[in-house]
Amino acid sequence: MALDSARQLSPRALELPADIAPEEALAAAAYADRLDIRFSSFKDGRGFSLAAILRANGYDGSLRAVGPLLPDQKPALVRSGFDAVDADPRPGAPRAISGFAHAYQPDPGAPHARPTALHRRALAARKARAEALADALDGAAPETILARALKVYCGRIALLSSFGAEAALGLKLLAEADPATPVLFLETRRHFAQTLSYKDRLVAALGLTDVRVLEPDAQEEAREDADGKLYERDGEACCALRKVRPLARGLDDFDAVITGRKRYHGGSRGALKAVEFDGERVKINPLAFLSPDAVAARFKALDLPAHPLTQAGYASIGCWPCTAPAEGPGSREGRWAGEDREECGIFDPAKAARAERAGAVRLI
Ligand code: SF4
Repeated sequence: MALDSARQLSPRALELPADIAPEEALAAAAYADRLDIRFSSFKDGRGFSLAAILRANGYDGSLRAVGPLLPDQKPALVRSGFDAVDADPRPGAPRAISGFAHAYQPDPGAPHARPTALHRRALAARKARAEALADALDGAAPETILARALKVYCGRIALLSSFGAEAALGLKLLAEADPATPVLFLETRRHFAQTLSYKDRLVAALGLTDVRVLEPDAQEEAREDADGKLYERDGEACCALRKVRPLARGLDDFDAVITGRKRYHGGSRGALKAVEFDGERVKINPLAFLSPDAVAARFKALDLPAHPLTQAGYASIGCWPCTAPAEGPGSREGRWAGEDREECGIFDPAKAARAERAGAVRLI
């Protein structure tokens, strides 16, 4: 991409000055997964309109505002179409920033806020791209799906792992493709000790370099689960406290998340696609089309270590209060046994459908 005023940040990432002509910015957008718009000062309004023009024309890559900006400007920048703000540190800035006793701009992320037209357009573009990818990757091999996703969502993608019975395969493929990709682990504080030691062993063996541990908020935990037995009284509330909300915070920096789900898990996963849009983010399922035999064969061929509990008959492994042994590879029968639940809220299809109907879109 040869533009005099553009600075190449990586093969598909460019930095553009805020005063670049819109048509040049649109030409750059056709080649870049990430555009950084550099503001000359926090008063520079050209960057705002440039972001709005790019989004209005369907650009759904990462759009970052960089330069001498103020934290208080973030809501307005997000409304214009930016999905991240990277303000330069500069002399005097801390005093100026601390001078704001409150945010005078309304927070577009507040529950009462309605999605703007720009956000709805960004949502539609993101959804259309995910659907096109799902069609292109239908039935594809895990390596193909993963490589394409890492390219399309470069710098905005993470893998979510429970370090359970089948997790090693997805982690191994990621380590081979790019071991620096962030891996998110939900530390519910209800894991089996064997899972935690298996996690440490796998991370070291595979050379994964960016594992992020997401924990429940300590104040929320003290307030909502003072006796530590919320899982007995209200499993969904326990999952919301220990999984759903920590994950929502951990995904703030990402547009796409790689999962280890497979069609043979059954239930709502029976029709899983390689790429899904859940109303907020894109979910990548590289292992969706594998059979239990194919997973077992790959474990053997790649000499992957088994989770210690698989030998004790655990086919799917989550928190200890909600996991029991189960028959058959990949069976989720032992999860929330005796309860009318098959998912914990993270992958709840009904929740995803509600988010999509509401037009929710999170641009970080
Ligand atoms: Fe709580 Fe069970 Fe959910 Fe773990 S799986 S967060 S223990 S309800």
